[in-house]
Formats: sequence, structure tokens, C-alpha cells
Amino acid sequence: MAKNDDLFKKVVAHAKEYGFIFPSSEIYDGLSAVYDYGPYGSMMKNNIKEYWWKSMVQMHENIVGLDAAIFMHPTTWKASGHVDAFNDPLIDNKDTKRRYRADVLVEDYVAKMEDKVQKEITKAKKRFGDAFDEEKFVTTAPHVVENRARQHEIIKRMSHDLDINDLADVKNLIDELEISDPDTGSRNWTEVRQFNLMFGTKVGSVAEGTTDLYLRPETAQGIFVNFLNVQKSARQKIPFGIAQIGKAFRNEIVARQFIFRMREFEQMEMQFFIRPNTELGEEGWFNKWRQKRLKWHLNLGMGAENYRFHDHDKLAHYANAATDIEFNFPFGFKELEGIHSRTNFDLSNHEKFSGKKMQYFDPETNESYTPFVVETSIGLDRMFLAVFSHSLVDETLPDGSERTVLRLPYVLAPVKVAVPPLLKKDGLPEEAHKIVKLLKYDFNTVYDEKDAIGRRYRRQDAIGTPICVTVDHDTLTDGKVTIRHRDTMEQQRVDISDLRDIISKEVDMRYALERLEE
Ligand code: ATP
Repeated sequence: MAKNDDLFKKVVAHAKEYGFIFPSSEIYDGLSAVYDYGPYGSMMKNNIKEYWWKSMVQMHENIVGLDAAIFMHPTTWKASGHVDAFNDPLIDNKDTKRRYRADVLVEDYVAKMEDKVQKEITKAKKRFGDAFDEEKFVTTAPHVVENRARQHEIIKRMSHDLDINDLADVKNLIDELEISDPDTGSRNWTEVRQFNLMFGTKVGSVAEGTTDLYLRPETAQGIFVNFLNVQKSARQKIPFGIAQIGKAFRNEIVARQFIFRMREFEQMEMQFFIRPNTELGEEGWFNKWRQKRLKWHLNLGMGAENYRFHDHDKLAHYANAATDIEFNFPFGFKELEGIHSRTNFDLSNHEKFSGKKMQYFDPETNESYTPFVVETSIGLDRMFLAVFSHSLVDETLPDGSERTVLRLPYVLAPVKVAVPPLLKKDGLPEEAHKIVKLLKYDFNTVYDEKDAIGRRYRRQDAIGTPICVTVDHDTLTDGKVTIRHRDTMEQQRVDISDLRDIISKEVDMRYALERLEE
């Protein structure tokens, strides 16, 4: 735990020091749970967006894009259920004055129980070696079976409480489990109460009268209200999808996890419209998107062991299936992306509240119906944190020296190529500038001449630059340069005329996209 805490602190510090992420309005001491992306951060964020957008819109003939406004007619949020039900159960600690989500306190308690199970499994694995049968162990070892049953019981009780809005029993549960303030150990809690997460604002001048609006808490509703506009104008037939990247706002109760939980954040959402009753089962769209999305993540090469599905027992009122893709963040496995089978809840409700038909006439079956929807929804900032925290590594090199390297997947690295001249004289800078000019139309390329060459390599390692192209005296006569690879630190002498091809094979998005189709 301490090690992971340290890693998390290091992630936050590194992100700031190297221009990835700054606290918002820092000169005024920042604003809680709001962050700004710096020079490298904004580039990396754009690369994540590009990877997502292209994999959705460019790779699928039946997925089109949308960029809906953040402000929406206020009735939207009545129809979607957010006004009445977009609440989190809140609890305060009277001693520390710290605020928590009551459900998260209980979930964290259960996660710790599961940690114990995992430790027992690891121990047993070591003890029994190759003969170990994990399936048998977890279904027969009394400790494990009891622990898991108890976990299940706790979550079931809490889910039921939240369903019927029995907040007093959530409080009882917290008391019975003796859950304490994670920071201080105090168990002096207030009652649990509901808190709506939407930010309200007003539009219009006072003289003309104002309208109460909300800042959208998800991008999805912009897609639903535009369903028919998009379907008709893009001449799409069901099944088809609408993809959107944009800001969302939530007045989160707990805001102490850097960019994991922000009050202003960005989502990448895709709503896939399908025939009713084609969503469930092995061949259903829900499972298809569940698998496709996992593949998108695994394709980045950050290790299959760092992802897992968490299928929901407790479903939102509109869903008939839901799963999270969880990632192994420095603070444990947590939701990175949600995949939800939303039935026809949203479209039907918009039809009800607006009085406008939201139906689709299916030319193949000759009938009209309200399409069902499978949604994939990922937080761009959470994705950033997953990639950034996983990639940040301290290494001891064979010569005993240390380096910090950001092993970003090449396609997501903000700078793809750095061109350092070996020395700042003898015509080397001029030659290096020529190489930058040669490469900059294809790759984000920087020229770097400050400090000794070793330090320049370290700086590029720290921002995750995959390739350095070093210009030396021989370059001037033989037309060759040295390529240095970030991860292996191997060096290779190549012709300047081959540079573009060599680099492109390593860093171009197209190869990552091709792998998705295999
Ligand atoms: P959580 O349970 O962590 O609050 P959620 O289930 O409410 O998340 P969704 O409404 O399903 O999240 O939103 C889809 C995705 O948007 C999440 O998987 C996450 O990646 C991202 N997301 C949601 N809330 C935030 C936030 N406050 N800050 C950053 N990303 C967020």
C-alpha cells in the first residue's frame, strides 16, 4: 500500500514537473478536482482522443460522429432521470469534517476483504505449485468461501438499501462493519443523505428573465436527442452508432484522487442503436462491445493482467446489463470504462417528454420501433491516468545509474521524435534542424540542444519520447544518424533517407488501428 501511495504521489509530481498536468488556477491555490493539461499533457490527451475516435468513427462505416452543445434544454435532464435520481449517498465525518460517498466506503471495505482472498490464493499457489487448481481452491477453502459469501451479502444489502432509498440502513451497515474515516480512523459519522451531482447555472439577463440550466453530467443525452437528426442526415440504418467526445460536469462529493475523479472532465461515449432484443446473450451487441472495448485497451500493450471486467449485480433503472472495465490504478482496480445496455429507456423518455416521435422505421422488417441502445462510455482523463501511471517507471541501468522513464505506448506519446545534435557547434545544429524539417510534417518532432547529450536523453525518457535521432560529425559526411530507442536504449545507425519509414513503423496510429481489426 505504501509503495502504491508513493507511486501515486510520484505520478502527480511528475505530471506537473514535466508539463503534463497542473492544478487549475494554481496561483490562487488551485480549485478542488479541476486540472489543466500542459504542453505535453494536451498533446497526449489529443492522441488518446485520436486513437478512440479513429477506432470508432474511421474504422466503422456504421458509426458517425457528433459534437453536441454542453448546454441542453432543461427538460432533457427530467427525461433522462438525472434531476430526480442522479444522486450519490453522502456521509460526513463529524470529527474530521471530511465528506465521503457512503457507498464507496462500503465498496472499499469489501475490496479489502477481496484483497485478503487474493493473498490467500497467491500463498496457496506458491505452496502447491503446478498442482494448484484455483477454481477448486476458491470454491472449497472455507476461509475463502466464507469471505466471498460475506462480501456478496454486504454488497447485496447496500444495493437493496440504495434501491429503496433506505439511507438509514446504509448508515447501520457502516456502523456494523465498523468502517472508519480512512485518514484518521474516526467513526463519528453523520446520517447518510442524498446529494444531486448536477451543476446548475442560469442563462439570460435578469431583465428578460432567466432560465435554469444544468451543465451536462454526461455527453450521452446530446446523442439521444439528436438520434433522428443524425440517422436521417447520415443515412444510417440500424444497427449504427453515434460517437462523441466532450466535457461533462459532476459536483463529485469526494474529490481527492487527482484526475481520477474530477468535477469537470471529458468523456468519450458511443451509443449503438440496435433492434430491440438483440442486446443480450453471447452473440448480442452488449457482449460484442464488451469484447471490442477490452481489445482496444489490450492493444496498447499495458498487460492483460491490469484489466478486468466487473459485471454489475445492481443495475441502474434503465439498464438490463452493465459491466465496467476496471484498470489496475496505483490505488487498486477501479472503473475505467462502462459498457451499458440501456434498453430503449432514453429514447422512449425523450419521446414522452418532448411529444416528438423517436422511432425508427426498419426497411428490412417493415416495422417501426424505438431502438435499443448499447453504450460504451470512457473517461478521457481516467484513461490518461491509467496510461500515465502505468508507464512511469524508475529503472536501474546495467551501469548502476538510475533513470525515470515514461514507457508510454508509442502511439500515445506526445513527442514522437527528438533530434539532438551531439554538440552545439560545427554545423551539427543546422543539420539537426534539417532533420526536424524533414520529419515534422509526419511526426511531432522537437529539436533539443540544451545540456549534455546524456541529460537530453533522460529528459526525453521522462516525457516518453520513443525515438531520439542524434546528429554527429559523421552525419555531415556519410548522411547517417543514430536512432536511440527509449525502452531498450539500443542505438542503430541509419540513413537519413530511411528515417521516415523506420519511425513511421514504430509510432504511426495506423498500425495500432490495423491490429484492432485482426
Ligand atoms: P464512478 O462510479 O467512478 O463515479 P460512474 O459509474 O458514475 O463512475 P459513468 O457515469 O458510467 O461513471 O461514466 C462513464 C465514465 O466516465 C466512467 O467510466 C469514468 O471513466 C468517467 N467518469 C465518470 N465520472 C468521472 C469523474 N468525476 N472524473 C473523471 N472521469 C469520470
